[in-house]
Amino acid sequence: MIQVNANIAKLKPSATLAINERVKSLRREGAKLYHFGFGQSPFPVPQLISEELTRHREKGGYLPSLGLPELRATIASYLGENQRTTFSPKGVLIGPGSKELLFQTLLLLQGITLIPKGSWVSYLPQVMAKGGGYDIINTSRENAYKLSPDQLTASCLKHKNSQKALILNSPNNPTGAVYDVSELAALAEVCRRFQVIVLSDEIYSLLNFKEEFSPSMAGHYPEGTIVFGGLSKIFSAGGYRLGYMALPEAMFELLPYYQAIFSETFSAVATPVQYAAVKAFEMPQVLLDEIAKNKAILGAVARFVVKELREGHIECTPPEGGFYTIIDLRHYREKFDHLGLKSSEDIAKHLLEHAGVALLPGSDFYFGADIPVFRMAFVDFDGGAWARIPLDLVSSNPGHIREHAPGVYEGIATLKSFLARG
Ligand code: PLP
Repeated sequence: MIQVNANIAKLKPSATLAINERVKSLRREGAKLYHFGFGQSPFPVPQLISEELTRHREKGGYLPSLGLPELRATIASYLGENQRTTFSPKGVLIGPGSKELLFQTLLLLQGITLIPKGSWVSYLPQVMAKGGGYDIINTSRENAYKLSPDQLTASCLKHKNSQKALILNSPNNPTGAVYDVSELAALAEVCRRFQVIVLSDEIYSLLNFKEEFSPSMAGHYPEGTIVFGGLSKIFSAGGYRLGYMALPEAMFELLPYYQAIFSETFSAVATPVQYAAVKAFEMPQVLLDEIAKNKAILGAVARFVVKELREGHIECTPPEGGFYTIIDLRHYREKFDHLGLKSSEDIAKHLLEHAGVALLPGSDFYFGADIPVFRMAFVDFDGGAWARIPLDLVSSNPGHIREHAPGVYEGIATLKSFLARG
């Protein structure tokens, strides 16, 4: 028996990837499935970015561990222009995905990690992998599972004597919620009072259905906020594996530690990808237009999904940005009880095997196992197929969605009729 690190032995493969594998294998066996489990951008990588990658394909040398200086400067300007936050190039660090940068940060910071209930699946396993302490903070359905100042205060008082890092994600995976400026300002006050370090996961920021971008905690609490972002969601290039983090000047004392840990682990992100990312974060008009179109499409699909779900007595959090909503099947509780399905995991398995609908159980997102909530990702469609439709004709009307996002259209109808059946 090989002895392994006990912290790692406790982990299981990420639920998102596990369900994706299960869906793939059922599809290989010929099953017709509606995949609301996986949150990958449905759009192609913008041509400008893929061409830039090709143009730099022969650059085979290593770059500095903290990233290509030109890219760090470009991202600092991008954050100023597109997110209205102020960071200097020195504080911008490049890594192989924001996920890895978050992990390295959690590894570095001592103390307790605070995670609001209704957060991304990977945060807790990352904390557990380092054997760190954590607190899952309760949030409420009425507030779309957004953290309130009182809830944060209660947690901070519990951990008064430890350093605290709060992971805040907006637009949120899994709820689709976006924190507005007044909510952020109120949370900032609590963070300042208890000297909380905020790890602000802004990977979906520009994919906000109503506003140009989603407000950042760094706008309200600049001295204590580290911002995370990357190429994956906004530029539909998850597979390029490039993320950034932006440290405020007040935390520059951490730079030598990042320099050490990056250089001793991943060395540096792939050189051609860093050059391609310069083009992306320069944000020429053609990319701004493409993002505007993508968010209009996502917003239209989200509106369709919410309307259809509510007509089928399925409550859901209102998606304001990103790819997701949390759906609540409490209306069908009796049906599940009757079938002996107790946990959200049991119900998700049942829906996959019997209705052909893949959802992720709420227990993966810190909800109690017996609460019948699920994450629905509404991006199982070919975003490239919308390319010919002019922006002003993108619509949430059912005929339009049926034509351009048939998997979403049929999947929702299948879920509704399966649940409505006796
Ligand atoms: N944060 C959230 C909330 C995500 O949903 C994801 C990807 O699914 C990530 C971070 C990881 O992004 P990256 O591809 O930059 O590692």
